[in-house]
Amino acid sequence: MQINNCFDSHLHWQGIGSFKSRLSLSSLKSAHDLKKLTMSDCHYRESWLLGHGWLDSFCLEGMSPRDTLDTLFPHTPVYFTTPDIHSVRLNSLAIKRLGIDSSSWKLNYKNYVDSKENKLLGAFHDLAKDFIDQKLPAYTDSQVKQHLLEAQKVIHQAGVTHIRDLTCSEQQFRMACELEKSNQLSMVVDLFFKLNHFDHLSSHIQTVKKMSSVPTQNLNIKGVKVFIDGALGSGGALLSEKYLNGHQGFTLFSQDELKEIFIQCYANNLELAFHVIGDQACDNVCSVALELQKKGVTGTLHLEHVQILSTETIRKIAQLGATCHMQPQHWCSDKKWLSEKISPQLISKSFRWADLDKAKIPFYFGSDAPVEDMSVGHLLFCLKQAEKDGIANISKSSLSRALSYPGNLRGSTFISQDGRVEKVLFDNNIVYQS
Ligand SMILES: [Zn+2]
Repeated sequence: MQINNCFDSHLHWQGIGSFKSRLSLSSLKSAHDLKKLTMSDCHYRESWLLGHGWLDSFCLEGMSPRDTLDTLFPHTPVYFTTPDIHSVRLNSLAIKRLGIDSSSWKLNYKNYVDSKENKLLGAFHDLAKDFIDQKLPAYTDSQVKQHLLEAQKVIHQAGVTHIRDLTCSEQQFRMACELEKSNQLSMVVDLFFKLNHFDHLSSHIQTVKKMSSVPTQNLNIKGVKVFIDGALGSGGALLSEKYLNGHQGFTLFSQDELKEIFIQCYANNLELAFHVIGDQACDNVCSVALELQKKGVTGTLHLEHVQILSTETIRKIAQLGATCHMQPQHWCSDKKWLSEKISPQLISKSFRWADLDKAKIPFYFGSDAPVEDMSVGHLLFCLKQAEKDGIANISKSSLSRALSYPGNLRGSTFISQDGRVEKVLFDNNIVYQS
């Protein structure tokens, strides 16, 4: 099988490299096993130890994550992310350094932390994690450059020559430009810059505009990424009905704020990419966009994940001419616990790529790496698996469109019968061969 311009339409470029450089916790059975892992310089951000793949089942008997990590790391600030990256575990030293033990912080973020009798248990989710991420010591320029290069290797190995990066930063863009100048960049990259807070909207737009005036060949600054809700796993995705535990998810922006985001970004010719996992989150975005469309406010709209969708929202997406970006790998990961979290009605509205196809809505597939492993073979396997589990599949021609970046032919990926990537060409150069 050959795929032209093999495209991963939703990933985190630097994240792939920086996660690779984190201490991998995936082989642990219990926190005791941490002693067996070898730590090296790349696992640290200044003095902080960063790890990925933490599960609370690793905790020492009867202990919280915080107490467990305190026992093992009394003198090192520790930051361990969970497999879905929406949550982080910290020890006491990390909590102290971040200054998040104050009652006002705890009150502000009470919905996004685990605590008992006003003591933080060391687990921080979604918004609280976002806050923490912004306070971590920064990576150096050379670390960032290294992450981008490492990630490019992973991307080529996965068979991909065209990517869409959803979390670019000014520093990352500068380093990517340096890679391009020194002929080390061999892929096409569409870039979106994440808006962290509504109050930053105008300055964020100005920064993105300023960067988009830098002449580049393969780095395309597209626009702004906005997180609307959280993940299903952490119960943050905004749903039209309650989770089985009684919550309903959260939204980060009011409808009025959304309106302003649309107006300002479109006025500046920037595309918008909304992270919408829950059906209600997606419907909220589409309703605002439709209202504005009637007033002549239009632009390019992307909807990321769209894991659960109502038929009514699919109709709105079609009317808006929006593009959806989905990850079949999430089905394989989420199906293990989905029925414990949400109702059968909501499950029946999940992963509707076939219905998007029927409604002639353009959509692309991606991996959300480093959240999921990146490989075209695995993506195809997950699509087949989903079909076996009762999720309608799409035709071969729709599939090849969903896997290919539109435009001039730059990349060719050759895949064996058993789904292995054999060879990847970019601009006629071999960038990967098995
Ligand atoms: Zn993502």
